[in-house]
Amino acid sequence: MRVPLRSRRSRHRVFPRTVSPLSVMLAALAPLALLVPAAADAQTRLSRTEQRIRAYIEQHRDAQVDFLARAVNINSGTMNVDGVRRVGALFRAALDSLGFETRWIEMPESMHRAGHLVAEHRGKRGTKRILLIGHFDTVFEGEGQQFVREDTVARGAGSSDMKGGDVIILYALAALRSAKALDDANITVFFSGDEESAGDPLSLARRDLIEAGKRSDVALAFEGGQRGIATVARRGASSWRLEVTGKQSHSAGVFGDSAGYGAIYEAARILDEFRKQLAGEQYLTFNPGAIVGGTEVTFDTLHIRGTVAGKLNIIARSAVVEGDLRFLSEEQKERARARMREIVAASLPQTSARITFADEYPAMSPTPANYALLAAYDSVSQALGYGPVTALDPGKRGAGDVSFVAPYVASMDGLGADGAGAHSPRERVFLTSLPMQTERAAVLIYRLSRQKQP
Ligand SMILES: [Zn+2]
Repeated sequence: MRVPLRSRRSRHRVFPRTVSPLSVMLAALAPLALLVPAAADAQTRLSRTEQRIRAYIEQHRDAQVDFLARAVNINSGTMNVDGVRRVGALFRAALDSLGFETRWIEMPESMHRAGHLVAEHRGKRGTKRILLIGHFDTVFEGEGQQFVREDTVARGAGSSDMKGGDVIILYALAALRSAKALDDANITVFFSGDEESAGDPLSLARRDLIEAGKRSDVALAFEGGQRGIATVARRGASSWRLEVTGKQSHSAGVFGDSAGYGAIYEAARILDEFRKQLAGEQYLTFNPGAIVGGTEVTFDTLHIRGTVAGKLNIIARSAVVEGDLRFLSEEQKERARARMREIVAASLPQTSARITFADEYPAMSPTPANYALLAAYDSVSQALGYGPVTALDPGKRGAGDVSFVAPYVASMDGLGADGAGAHSPRERVFLTSLPMQTERAAVLIYRLSRQKQP
């Protein structure tokens, strides 16, 4: 049975539209109002336009859920190129109808990825250019994970990560248009088709997103969100590969001058030194995900799988370890890498080793500009009666697409749908979060779109 969402939602509406004792007091002290910054007062309540934006979202809550159901019911695992494109076509048509100029960016066939959708709206010159970020692909293929609504929760692949966020973007823009608040806005919407497993080479797969970021003043990303928190920092991710060589000889001579320690002892020393010297630093983690060692070793870096052969009476000749490295700033990343290189270079007798690093996601560092965005979002949330919003601990959030633009533009993430079970077959979305997140996003976009470019 479908229960009207409104019953729950009314709890969210305690503050707005009523006259608070404070505002009565301020009115009585009108001459003193000159001492209060005018902007601060304007931000704490909704303008007429903003009330119209909210009303549209309220009136379209069922339509929004229906649109989400349609999107979820198109299977779009990252490798399902056709499925991702069909989700793209659904959103493209909707954005076309809102007056956006849309185009599909193809990736080379060899990449086996669907490409990306870009939609642009040009408004008044000199106002902030806003980038909205979503993605169409899902972790799972979607088989057996169709949209099923149970009361105020709906299950389905991508229901919260992040087709839920995608429909929040869409209905926020529709609300702006309906309230005639879109005309002057400069907005680019970027939906990637391979967020969950980015195409290779990454520089090409993320080229257009990065370009869109460089052309913008603000980036808002719609990965899963919650009522009281948003993301102003995410850790970056990278990988490393350790290759260790030892002298193959009889095990009876191990630790001796001639035979040395072998590749496996040396790999163990290196990993243990990593842990002893670097573990515990805030926001820094590194994890060896796979290790192989013996006399004959193969390691397939693409599938992270290997084979190994050895004998109990032979000192191991070769060892390979692959792992990740997560960090909150470029400086932290480089410092950790330098330390790891030093450890690797201090070889035990008759062994040698080298370590190589590969960049994946840059860090989204907690900049003052990101905190200013959070403050704007917080005041929007309070004006709508949804309460304050604070920053999520960066250690609690993995890397995401917003990280690619964060080095260039003020950024915030976690504006999408609230849900649970992301990246599992039990993924679900809390439907009451859709109108809340849509209202907050729409009013934030509206306010930002009226600000002058920095
Ligand atoms: Zn996602």
